[in-house]
Amino acid sequence: MRIVLAMLLAAGCIFSQAPNIETMKGKTVLLFTPHPDDDAFCCGGTLALLRENGNKVYIVIYTNDDKGSYDPDMTSERLARIRKSEEEAGNRVLGIPKENVLWLGHHDGMLEYVEPKHLVEQATEIIRRHRPDVVMSVDPGGDHARWHKTDHRAAGMITLDAIRAAEWHLYFPNQRLQLGLEPYRVPVFLFFYTLAREANYWVNIDRFVEKKIEAALAHVSQFEPAVNKYRADWTAADLSKARAELMAAMKKRNGHTVEAYRLATEFNQQ
Ligand SMILES: [Zn+2]
Repeated sequence: MRIVLAMLLAAGCIFSQAPNIETMKGKTVLLFTPHPDDDAFCCGGTLALLRENGNKVYIVIYTNDDKGSYDPDMTSERLARIRKSEEEAGNRVLGIPKENVLWLGHHDGMLEYVEPKHLVEQATEIIRRHRPDVVMSVDPGGDHARWHKTDHRAAGMITLDAIRAAEWHLYFPNQRLQLGLEPYRVPVFLFFYTLAREANYWVNIDRFVEKKIEAALAHVSQFEPAVNKYRADWTAADLSKARAELMAAMKKRNGHTVEAYRLATEFNQQ
């Protein structure tokens, strides 16, 4: 009997570390993204829900996304400015103020060539400063991350290394000595862009589908025709085409629209 009770308590302890993302209130969520647009595409519905429930949401963006345009007249500097204003417009839709977005400013597609220790130190400091209840990041095991998008691969791995470093005071001890940042153990990890077969957590976004689409459509320069020849607005035909594609990409589960994740706790200690 005592063993059963102990097991139940242990189970309860584990569950208490994994809050229900749909109902949690007053918590802090820190999302690490390689580019300004992945946050809306992966998790726009979840972020809108979290904000509606009074949670603090901070977005850390590793790169300034300054390369992805076919427009021969585009420059990296201009593209970075465009992407920043699009991200801020998308976040306004989701209820995330621009003060909560931290731009690390590395060049698009080049994250794997930035000194990794420097990146981990940056991310560790942010984790220790904000002390999040949940960290969201790219799943480094997703097909796209493993084989194609180097920034996605790097963002996933760097964030994981920073999560580990943040809890041990001997990593980057200057942060404690000089900045007063105590070690911090992240209790919950929520990975996005995860493989369908590895997803284990789904957030119902039925009420936030429109907000997700609106936030995604704020990234005008990522879609045709602006990706080929930049323009700040949409033609009616291109807008309805993009909207239809975003709707078609929504994941369904048990009759509801969902965003799929791999949720994990504590693997960092094993
Ligand atoms: Zn991306």
